[in-house]
Amino acid sequence: MGNTEGNLQWVERARRHIPGGVNSNNRALPWPMAIVRAEGAYFYDADGNRYLDYHAAFGPIILGHNHPAVNAAVREAMERVDLVGTAVTDLEVLLAEKISEHVPSAEMVALCNSGSEATYLAIRLARAVTGRPSIVKFQGTYHGWHDAVAMNVISPPERIGRKDPLSQGMLQEEIDHTFVLPFNNLEAVGELMDSRSDEIAAVIVEVIPHNIGCVMPKEGFLEGLRTITHANGSLLIFDEVVTGFRHDLGGYQRICGVTPDLSTFAKAMANGYPIAALVGKAEYMERLAPGGGVFFAGTFNGTPSSVAAALATIRELEVGGVHEHCFQLAEMAANGLQEIASELGIVMTVARFGSVFVPYFMEGPIESYEDLLRNDTERDIWFRRSMCEHGVFMLPTALKRNHVGAAHTEADIAMTLEIARQVLSSMPA
Ligand code: PLP
Repeated sequence: MGNTEGNLQWVERARRHIPGGVNSNNRALPWPMAIVRAEGAYFYDADGNRYLDYHAAFGPIILGHNHPAVNAAVREAMERVDLVGTAVTDLEVLLAEKISEHVPSAEMVALCNSGSEATYLAIRLARAVTGRPSIVKFQGTYHGWHDAVAMNVISPPERIGRKDPLSQGMLQEEIDHTFVLPFNNLEAVGELMDSRSDEIAAVIVEVIPHNIGCVMPKEGFLEGLRTITHANGSLLIFDEVVTGFRHDLGGYQRICGVTPDLSTFAKAMANGYPIAALVGKAEYMERLAPGGGVFFAGTFNGTPSSVAAALATIRELEVGGVHEHCFQLAEMAANGLQEIASELGIVMTVARFGSVFVPYFMEGPIESYEDLLRNDTERDIWFRRSMCEHGVFMLPTALKRNHVGAAHTEADIAMTLEIARQVLSSMPA
């Protein structure tokens, strides 16, 4: 921010040929910015302004931008084999084996290119396995942009308890087949299952709803979903697109000890390269095989550069120390912010799990999206924007999570806290 000449020029050109000047609705910013370089914990705009990055591209960047080991693995793969698109590559076999080794539910692995593709495939497979049409999702969770799930994420109060589609053009029939329930409310799930037991193919859940920051599942909630879905003959799908590899190599399922039927992974799996995986029980996953009845395809599935990036990222995470480093620094950031807010008499609840932290401008407790209606959106956005103005990039959208990666240092966190103190001290009443 500040000097905007270069940024303005790129953004003007972008707007001429790219709708809204961005290739995702979620990337729009309220000021002109074009990115030209990223390295380690920082990225740089077209005017040379440097930002300490807590956005991490919505989560993929766990090792730091432009990680040398990941880049080397990609280069090596590309010099040997690019996309051939028939049979299978050695790299895909190695990655499937690796994911199966780490992720408890991963008896088999299917590779695709994005989290949305993976959740789409999971739902199609669940419908095929059960012969049932409907799914359950929770208010506040995000599972991608396709019609079965693109609804009820950050909803205004009047849309809670009703359908809140994210887009025009979605098929009403598809929307009707998705039931939206409050997160952490097993009773609501049980009641729906009782009344529509033969309709529900699957329950899909963000194990920690990180799309509204960091709302933790209450003790027994995920276990309860496991019991209820099992009893009803429905599949349980854990969406670990954010949590997978970021919180643990085995996903949050390894931490919580609940094993779903199917799970989806993407983001931190390849440190920024486009790749995703649907994993799960072999008896279900086998249905994706040619002749298995559930059509699964994709020209770019298993692209060698992305698979090599995933293998290199997992190798770095296996060496150990990355998660511990990130968790420690995120804790330092979260505790520091909480202390500063208390000293200044600002109402704030900082939520954290692992490397993810989020300052909410409200009192706790926070157990569901409905609780977050108490968040002071204006203050939330003002704080984030002010941090960006000081070179600390926290996405200027309310409720969005911050990520700490391996490239962040203690000095980066200390600087963040110093700037946060300055910013919060001047926060309008
Ligand atoms: N699931 C979760 C939990 C996500 O956070 C996202 C994206 O933010 C998706 C699925 C969709 O992934 P993608 O944007 O790669 O399609």
